[in-house]
Amino acid sequence: MSRAGGIGMSRYVGNHPYFAGLAGTLVAVAMAGLTLLTLSSGRDDALNHARETAQNLVSIISSDLERNVEIYDLSLAAMVDGARDRATWTLPADLQQAVLFDRATTAAYLGGAYVIAADGRVIASQNGEINAAVRLADRDYFLVHQRSPAVGLYFSHPYRSRLRDGKLSIGLTRRINEADGTFGGVALLAIRIEYFQHLLDRINTGELGSVFIVMDDGTLLARKPFSSRDIGTSIAKSPTFQVMAARTSGSYVARSAVDGVRRMFTYARVPGTPLIAVVAPAEDEVLAPWRRRSRIAGALTLAFGAVFVMVSWMLAFVLRDKLRAQAALMRLAATDPLTGLSNRRVLDNRLDEEWRRARRSGQPLSALFIDIDHFKQFNDVYGHASGDEALTAVAECISATVLRAVDLVARYGGEEFAVILPDTTAEGALNLAEKIRSKVQSLRVVHRDGEAITITVSIGCATSVPAAGASALDLLAAADRQLYAAKAAGRNRVRSATWVGQSVAQDASS
Ligand code: GH3
Ligand code: MG
Ligand code: MG
Repeated sequence: MSRAGGIGMSRYVGNHPYFAGLAGTLVAVAMAGLTLLTLSSGRDDALNHARETAQNLVSIISSDLERNVEIYDLSLAAMVDGARDRATWTLPADLQQAVLFDRATTAAYLGGAYVIAADGRVIASQNGEINAAVRLADRDYFLVHQRSPAVGLYFSHPYRSRLRDGKLSIGLTRRINEADGTFGGVALLAIRIEYFQHLLDRINTGELGSVFIVMDDGTLLARKPFSSRDIGTSIAKSPTFQVMAARTSGSYVARSAVDGVRRMFTYARVPGTPLIAVVAPAEDEVLAPWRRRSRIAGALTLAFGAVFVMVSWMLAFVLRDKLRAQAALMRLAATDPLTGLSNRRVLDNRLDEEWRRARRSGQPLSALFIDIDHFKQFNDVYGHASGDEALTAVAECISATVLRAVDLVARYGGEEFAVILPDTTAEGALNLAEKIRSKVQSLRVVHRDGEAITITVSIGCATSVPAAGASALDLLAAADRQLYAAKAAGRNRVRSATWVGQSVAQDASS
């Protein structure tokens, strides 16, 4: 800002007291808005960060599952190959077992590996034990492979093992074809359900968060926090699951129908499997640090803003009071306390000003000098208080007669008044003076005892077209001389002179 601009600005602020308050309020509101904006973007950041973390966890779970399923499938492929080879079944038991299950023994969380015949009997097992009484022809995996040769790797639903004391497992299976392509049985790899649970145990999702692995038909395989009753149940009907089932990966926020907690469900389908891995941190926990920070920042912003606004308005009010006092003082300094008219100082200033203006414009400038007749006597007879009343009445009378805004009525001193009339000819001034004289004469100042007293004034007029070599004071002096002449001529009359430069032409009286 330029120097002049700065001064202009400070003058503007100095003269408009509420500017400080308004500006302060505006700044505080802007700061609060900025804080709000920052806080709300902080919320988005927190949610985005949580989503990224959840996505990373999902992909860790997913890749672990994918890799293990690959290993399981290789074992299954070896079992299928071994089972299809007729020579295998002619081998001694130990060799036969080595051919069929050599690979399977290395699989993690293996519950057991079995070859099941086309009638549902177990005909070979990895641990060598065969329970001849067990039939598996009713299992879902058996039925699926029996019905169709095109299923490939199949994930069974969780089941309680008939061969291993009811241990909860899921089966990974492949169909064994006869040489002619007809159903020859099933190769089964039973995976202990703990595999999934242990995978999830390593994931930390806070106290309210949850993480789970679910099959694409809604069957729950593992869940943290763990609840044994949940495993194997279906969540297919829950709206949250329906969103997940429709896509390969994504993230959304939903309120749990079970515990009412809002969670950010981040999920991805594990490639090559019917499994979906889901990490769902609780929104409240994700946002807790942000909320704490926001509360503090919000409270501080509010407090500072309030103080700032208060101080701004305090300044504004102090400035307003100062300006009011200043204005009152200026009025006081410019007015006469008894009559309320302008005082001598204002008269001198205005006279100077109007003189210079008239010189520039070449217009005539007139002045009246008014003095109350025999006022000393009035005071002596009626008292000073009545004298003051009469003075005020005359002042009001003059003000009421001189109507233009550019005219000035002033108390010159004592019982003398001066009137300045810009752009007014001698004739105009004389008319006005005569009006004042007659109005004052018709005034009745009522005394305490009810007596109505008549007052009269004498008026001297002077008019000039200001020229070089003369001053405004000469105009007043000329009017004063006319006043003196009016007094000398008997009072209660008007005397007027036009005066240009040095020559004075007395031209009218009434
Ligand atoms: P004239 O002008 O007609 O020659 O006679 P005068 O009696 O008016 O004479 P002069 O102007 O000399 O007297 C002025 C008197 O006005 C003196 C004083 O008693 C009175 N006076 C001046 N100022 C005030 C005032 O403020 N209040 C009152 N009550 N009287 C004032
Ligand atoms: Mg006098
Ligand atoms: Mg007098």
